[in-house]
Amino acid sequence: MKHIYDVIIIGGGPGGYSAALYASRAGLDTLVIEKFSVGGQMTLTDVIDNYPGFEEGTDGISLGFKMQQSAERFGAKTEYDEVVGVSLAGEIKTVTSVSAEYKSKTVIIATGANPRELGIEKETELVGRGVHYCAHCDGRFYKDKTVVVVGGGNSAVEDALYLSRLAKKVWLVHRRDELRATKIYRDSLLKADNVEIIWNSRVTQLRSDKRLNGVQVENILNAEITDIVCDGVFVSIGRKPASELFKGQVEIDENGYIIADESGKTNVEGVFAVGDVRTKALRQVVTAVSDGATAAHFAEEYIIRN
Ligand code: NAP
Repeated sequence: MKHIYDVIIIGGGPGGYSAALYASRAGLDTLVIEKFSVGGQMTLTDVIDNYPGFEEGTDGISLGFKMQQSAERFGAKTEYDEVVGVSLAGEIKTVTSVSAEYKSKTVIIATGANPRELGIEKETELVGRGVHYCAHCDGRFYKDKTVVVVGGGNSAVEDALYLSRLAKKVWLVHRRDELRATKIYRDSLLKADNVEIIWNSRVTQLRSDKRLNGVQVENILNAEITDIVCDGVFVSIGRKPASELFKGQVEIDENGYIIADESGKTNVEGVFAVGDVRTKALRQVVTAVSDGATAAHFAEEYIIRN
C-alpha cells in the first residue's frame, strides 16, 4: 500500500519549512516537495535585514538552507520534484509530481509567488538576453553598463540601489509621480548619483538585435516617446501568486491568492495555504514563517480530530 504522510508541504520557502519544522517537531510524518532550490523568493534577495535574530542581516540562500536543516533535524524530508497536479478533496489527498504520486492526510500549500511580467512584445524571447526579473541574481552581468529598472515599489528601488553599485547608469521607470517604496529606500535612492527616475512613464517596447539594446518609454501624461539605449532591463513590478495548480480545488480570489485566514485554513478540510500565496496584508519572510507555524498547528489538530 502507498505510504500516507501526515503532512505534505508544497514549496520549500520560509512558510514551507517553518510548517515542516513545527509539524515534524510535533511528531508528524512530514514531506516537503520543492521544485528547484530551498528558500523560495528569499534566494532572490542579497541581504535580508528585517528578519529578527541577525544583527548584521543575512542572505536569503543561507537562511533558506538553515530553515531546511532546522526542519530536517526533527525528521522532515525533502523531495526535489515538480508538482503537476493535486486532488485535495476527501480524507486522503493526492499530490502528483513529474515522477511520483504522493498521498497525505493534510496538505500545506506554500508555493509563494513569481515575478509579474510587463506583458509586452519580445519580453519572453529576451529573457536572459537583456530582460531579467532578479537584480540580485543577474545584476553582476551589468558591471559598468547601463540598465533600466521598471517599478516603484520596495523591490524596484532595492533593485535600482543594488544595480547602482555595479552599473554605470540606472534608469528607474515608474508609471506614477511618486514611489510606493518606503522612506528608508527612497532616501537611499536620492543619494545614489547614477540613478535617474523617469516619472509617469511605462516601457512600451524592447529594442533588440541578438539581445536587448534599448527600450522605448512612453510618458503616460503626454504620450511623449523616449528611447533609452541600455544593456539590460530589470522588471520589478510585483509578484503573482503561484496558485495555478490549485484552481478548481480551493477557493482563490480575483487576484489569484488562495483564500485562507490567519489559521491558514482554506475552504477544503485538511488543506492550508501559507505565505505569499494566501490572502494577507503583509507578505514578508517573517509573516510567512508565522503562517507556517500556525498552519502546522491546525494541521495537527485536524489529524487528531479525524
Ligand atoms: P509592489 O509593492 O506591489 O510594487 C509593485 C510596483 O510595480 C508598484 O510601484 C506598481 O506601480 C508597479 N507596477 C505594477 N504593475 C505594473 C505594470 N504592469 N507596469 C509598470 N509598473 C507596474 O511589489 P514589490 O515591490 O515587488 O514588493 C512586494 C512586497 O514585498 C511588498 O509588500 C513589499 O513591501 C515587500 N518587499 C519588502 C522589502 C523589504 O522590506 N526589505 C523588499 C522588497 C519587497 P504603482 O505604484 O503605480 O501601483
